Amino acid sequence: MRERVDVAVIGGGQAGLAVGYYLRRAGLSFVILDDQDAPGGAWRHVWPSLRLFSPAEYSSLPGRLMPRTSGGNPDADHVIRYLADYEERYSLPVVRPVRVAQVIPTSEGFQLLTDAGQWRARAVVNTTGTWSQPFWPTMPGQRSFRGNQIHSADYRGPGKFKGQSVLVVGGANSAAQIAADLVDSAEVTWCLRGQPRYLPDDVDGRELFRVASQRVRALAAGEPDPGGVANLGDIVAVPPVKKARDAGLLIPHPMFDRFTRDGVVWGDGSFRRVDAVIWCTGFRPALRHLRKLDLREPDGTISLTGTASTRIPGLYFAGYGDWTGPGSATLVGVGSTAKATVGAIAGDLESATTAAA
Ligand code: FAD
Repeated sequence: MRERVDVAVIGGGQAGLAVGYYLRRAGLSFVILDDQDAPGGAWRHVWPSLRLFSPAEYSSLPGRLMPRTSGGNPDADHVIRYLADYEERYSLPVVRPVRVAQVIPTSEGFQLLTDAGQWRARAVVNTTGTWSQPFWPTMPGQRSFRGNQIHSADYRGPGKFKGQSVLVVGGANSAAQIAADLVDSAEVTWCLRGQPRYLPDDVDGRELFRVASQRVRALAAGEPDPGGVANLGDIVAVPPVKKARDAGLLIPHPMFDRFTRDGVVWGDGSFRRVDAVIWCTGFRPALRHLRKLDLREPDGTISLTGTASTRIPGLYFAGYGDWTGPGSATLVGVGSTAKATVGAIAGDLESATTAAA
């Protein structure tokens, strides 16, 4: 066995580091296990032109402001440097690369089986994000299609698509940003269900977090649902998206019906030759290491009280989206979720210690 700690955090992206910050302040012993070779989490896997929705001063984890940038919102490299510095500044005990394969409840907490040995912990916080579980739908004829198909998780910029006919599929930020990234070098066909729902141009990550927090507060106070971020729209009009949209280059098409060997066909019989498809169809939480714990309800959701599993005491979740706290999948939003999670863990561990005395 490698080590015995109060808390094991699985995943060393922004959510794991925010949880680590509060664990350090709470004086609990902990480890952060991350399967990457270096700091940065999902930010190590995004395309070069991606920019944050918000300026640096509104994209900080607890305790330490993200350094400002000149010339627009930060890019992924800026975020990676910030996260690396954050780990160092707070001496967070991140161990890499360590992939957690299984989490087993025991009488004293949990045993974690990894590719670098075993850890034991009284509580576990999952902050494994979603980037490693890209989701693609299946479509008729897809196997016969001879062109290239990738997920947005593997998109690295327009270079290899130069001069090609590219289908971008999806109705949210990744699709709009990738389509905008490609319009100058490829012939882009943007397919989505319904019409694109752009947020008002002056809305950025700050406003999204404010709306998400306001909704959670209202619901907690038993007030009528004021509507969440989804009511505002799906697509943040970051400058490249706004520019392409305003130039009339982001033209929405309905979803096609089926693939052929060299293209796609719509319901009305129209055909388009396609060299490549980029699926911007989202991600699922990376929870394979928990599959034996029977966490899912019949409707597929994971039931939580706060961020604690209602089925497995001592198991917590942070960073996956609003179901784990308002704005918890964002840099600015994950701090409050992390604080509440560590507060709950500290209370539970103290009660357990008192009961055992
Ligand atoms: P991650 O960053 O994915 O970290 C999880 C870590 O856990 C990873 O290192 C992963 O490899 C590791 N891991 C997974 N499974 C295991 C395992 N079994 N064992 C060990 N380690 C494991 N957010 C913002 O705040 N601002 C923005 O402007 C913004 N813009 C975005 C734009 C786009 C187009 C997209 C797609 C996302 C954007 N996001 C933005 C969201 C942000 O990228 C992610 O939500 C965020 O990185 C999630 O952080 P996390 O710590 O929860 O997960």
